[in-house]
Amino acid sequence: MSQNYPEWIWQNGQIKPWREATVHVMAHALHYGSSVFEGIRSYETPDGAAIFRLTDHLKRLYLSAKIYDIEIPYSMDELAEACREVVKKNDFKAAYLRPVAFRGLGGFGLSAECPTDVAVATWPMGPYLGPEALENGIDACVSSWQRFAPNTIPAGAKAGGNYLSGQLIAREARRLGFGEGIALASTGLLSEGAGENLFLVFDGALHTTPASASILAGITRHTLMTLAREEGIDVIERDLPREYLYLADEILMCGTAAEVTPIRSVDGKKIGTGKGGPITRRLQELYFGLFNGKTADRWGWLEPL
Ligand code: PMP
Repeated sequence: MSQNYPEWIWQNGQIKPWREATVHVMAHALHYGSSVFEGIRSYETPDGAAIFRLTDHLKRLYLSAKIYDIEIPYSMDELAEACREVVKKNDFKAAYLRPVAFRGLGGFGLSAECPTDVAVATWPMGPYLGPEALENGIDACVSSWQRFAPNTIPAGAKAGGNYLSGQLIAREARRLGFGEGIALASTGLLSEGAGENLFLVFDGALHTTPASASILAGITRHTLMTLAREEGIDVIERDLPREYLYLADEILMCGTAAEVTPIRSVDGKKIGTGKGGPITRRLQELYFGLFNGKTADRWGWLEPL
């Protein structure tokens, strides 16, 4: 498949042409999944382009790195500047940003002390779950693949290796004709989507799975919890059994890439009216309102490009 790539990328302290940002085939991360990364979006706002919650995303990157003893040889300020620089150099305003830090070339064993390579890529990205997903919602299924147990791989780190699980879930869902897959945790209770957190609505309150359900506690999830509570909507973090998916009044998935996407059916069973309910629509309004100026950013989440 042909793909248009952006012109510029940041790698190890330098902006360089995209095609020159290469790594050795024996880089540790390629064999063992030893990378940590972030997915961030910048948006055009009435006050100029802004990177959404850049600092919070970079904090999570360093925490993910800490879990795996990956030393990032740049300060957070330096990486924040790299993010801004690469978006500007490509002349993007609304874009997706992908900082990644990984064990590079330096040894062959699992515990080899390899130098950390760092890159920041950026590219334009529309709605991740399809052009009509935000408006029409998507059909989801419960995956036959479970999420990894908490004492196997830490779901709270955004590490490359975790996305083997995500790939199995997402690819199975697409193969079966669904827009996205939802995984159960090793407990048998609900976890999250392949690359998104989940909210279910019951009687006007939002219910979302807790950190103990092998989820990545998303920054979009935190954003929606904050916006909802401001609106007087109750938000409850709790264990949720699978059948609650079929009983919910509304379900939405959220993430930096997926933004706020209504789920119109799960396993072929219609959710509510099948059109995205009032709470989902209100949360979409509030979330996208941060970028079109209708929701006041009282938290300093919009960090100027
Ligand atoms: N869960 C998983 C597994 C993810 O990959 C993502 C996307 N980073 C999320 C949840 C949502 O996280 P965020 O809102 O921080 O993008």
